[in-house]
Amino acid sequence: MSDPSQEPLLQQLLRLHAIDQQIAALERELKQSQEDLFSAMDGVAGLKEELERLDGELLRARTDARTAEHTADAKRDQLERLRARVNQVKTEKQYGAATLEFDLVRQEIRKLEDKELEKLQAVEDLEVRRKAVQEELDAADAEVEPLGEKVGKRRVELEQELAIKRDRRHNRAIRLDRNVLGLYDRIRSGRAEVALAPLTGEGVCGYCFTSVTIQQEMQIKGMSTIVCCEGCGVILFPEDMSPTR
Ligand SMILES: [Zn+2]
Repeated sequence: MSDPSQEPLLQQLLRLHAIDQQIAALERELKQSQEDLFSAMDGVAGLKEELERLDGELLRARTDARTAEHTADAKRDQLERLRARVNQVKTEKQYGAATLEFDLVRQEIRKLEDKELEKLQAVEDLEVRRKAVQEELDAADAEVEPLGEKVGKRRVELEQELAIKRDRRHNRAIRLDRNVLGLYDRIRSGRAEVALAPLTGEGVCGYCFTSVTIQQEMQIKGMSTIVCCEGCGVILFPEDMSPTR
């Protein structure tokens, strides 16, 4: 498989592999920055929903509080009328009946006033929660726009870098033996990015640690032919070989 007019196949593959890993890293960064932006936008949308929900609750709570206030007001008016009547009674019997009713109404007022307070407290609690959510939303909102700009800018840079790397990759790939390139691409598509691994000093695959035969070891070190690991399938290269040079 080796061509004396070119650098060894393994060396070519290693260079291609290095470019592919750079491409993968750039693609990861691109994806990650986009995801960060989306999650920030989701955060803002979630807070807006929460705020709308609280507004709805507040509207209902304020109506409840007003109703409780009106009910208590009506009872208080009734008490005033009774007070006037108590002052006008002529007989002891009338007095007894009027004060009894007066006391009953006063008790009812106490209950209604408790309820009134409870409803007012609910409004106040909701207002506190609403304020906190509003503040959180303002802060998140203030972050999204600059983040969007930053991600957009970085995206342009990353896409330019990617275009350069992909071009470089293409130029290398077309010079490679087609069968070897096919093998390499198949291995890569089957696993996460890793298509090549060094044969360690102990004579095992640097990726999955499966050992190779003496004959395979000699082939790998001599770079006379492409040898794949029988454990994980990656192409093995001599440990002292550098992907960058
Ligand atoms: Zn392996």
